[in-house]
Amino acid sequence: MHEWALAEAILATAKQIAEKENLREIAEVTIKVGQLQQVEPPILRFALNQMKSDVFKKAKFRILKAKSTLKCRNCGNIWQFNFRKLDKAAAEAIHFVPEVAHTYIKCPKCGSPDFEIVTGRGVWLEDIKGVKC
Ligand SMILES: [Zn+2]
Repeated sequence: MHEWALAEAILATAKQIAEKENLREIAEVTIKVGQLQQVEPPILRFALNQMKSDVFKKAKFRILKAKSTLKCRNCGNIWQFNFRKLDKAAAEAIHFVPEVAHTYIKCPKCGSPDFEIVTGRGVWLEDIKGVKC
């Protein structure tokens, strides 16, 4: 459900940027989704295509997954978290409840499960390409 609210926010923001940049037509919108964010790219893409206004008529939506960076609260180690290293059940559990990450992921340096998520949550607009007026 929240993919639709997200799509609405993305389109509104992209439109504002397009107006500021004097784009009369948007060709491509690149969206980044954090690995630990609960977003289904196919649903988001569908919502974007359903809700888009005229300025997006020819727009392509690219949805990319952003890597997660984690920081250990015990030793200060910072590492990039690779989702593919987890088994499928764990990856799915984390996807739906990001807080569960602490059960599955431990600091590779000291083994502590106490870490914070530096990046990897949230959704943001990475890039907009278009045709100038
Ligand atoms: Zn550590």
